[in-house]
Amino acid sequence: MSQQKLILPRLFIVSPCYNEEEVLPETISRLTAILKHLVRDNLIKSNSGMLFVDDGSRDNTWSIIHQYNKSNPFVCGLKLARNAGHQNALLAGLMAAKEEADIVISIDADLQDDLDVIRQFILEYSKGYDIVYGVRKSRETDTIFKRTTALAFYRLMEKMGVNVVYNHADYRLLSKRVLDNLDRFEEVNLFLRGLIPLIGYKSTNVFYDRQERFAGESKYPLKKMLSFAFEGITSFSVKPIRFITTIGFALSVLSVVMASYALVQKLIGNVISGWASIMISIWFIGGIQLISLGLIGEYVGKIYKETKRRPRYIVDERLSSFSSINGEEIKNRELVYHK
Ligand code: UDP
Ligand code: MG
Repeated sequence: MSQQKLILPRLFIVSPCYNEEEVLPETISRLTAILKHLVRDNLIKSNSGMLFVDDGSRDNTWSIIHQYNKSNPFVCGLKLARNAGHQNALLAGLMAAKEEADIVISIDADLQDDLDVIRQFILEYSKGYDIVYGVRKSRETDTIFKRTTALAFYRLMEKMGVNVVYNHADYRLLSKRVLDNLDRFEEVNLFLRGLIPLIGYKSTNVFYDRQERFAGESKYPLKKMLSFAFEGITSFSVKPIRFITTIGFALSVLSVVMASYALVQKLIGNVISGWASIMISIWFIGGIQLISLGLIGEYVGKIYKETKRRPRYIVDERLSSFSSINGEEIKNRELVYHK
């Protein structure tokens, strides 16, 4: 276990809010109780808190946050200039909180996630885990539709080679060094669930039951959900492009078979004149075109990856500090080696 983890961490709970006036007072009171208990049990520093990000709400969300900020020492707020979307609002909160916090837990404002596991998150952190994923035990509280689409989504992601934690949404604990590294990912198309596993470090899962929404409606209608899933795949995988190249090659092989078939038919005299040459051309050109498209796609995919400017590596630990080896010492060492 590293030294830093023996010291009591300062925790911030970050929650993005979009038109959440109906749930916020309850959320704040429940989170306050949890924070008080954690402080009392000596698990977190007393200057821990919660940060609510108002994602351009059109209702009273911000004035509620404002009001609580005056009366409740745990409550902080961040107001975005317009609706930037859940993922961006969450990132804004994480980046603001990391300036003050040692650990950050992100949670939706609607109290669907079980708050009691926050304690477990912190215990896992103190065991040396930098990332703790909240994972749903089951999807019983979901509609059949949401359950099946979610399953299809995870299957598809897996097929596309995107590493996401099954049944984990954005309820998780991240340490400061994970957040510092997350800051190095400059991409605009955010899909945090795919990014966090890319960072690495020791991670673990904590299982919990997800409740129905406490009040208000879901801010994720089908349209937003589909575009989120599409975003997840296209932000992390160039496999769809490779798929085109593969079809191109398959079609080229098939075109040889079709050419032989057409020639045989022609020799037998089964066909009208011109049929064989047209058939052969169609298959052959089709194959060539798809291969070419796929090839161009490969380059586009490469450019796409370059433009993301993702960090190429992330350091976990470093033993000797290079700066402590001064010129003097190196010289002495050379003397020893040359003797
Ligand atoms: N949210 C947000 N901006 C948006 C949409 C949603 O900040 O544009 C927040 C919302 O207030 C909630 C969280 O993201 O705290 C998750 O949204 P919701 O609970 O509606 O999604 P669901 O649980 O139905 O998937
Ligand atoms: Mg919700």
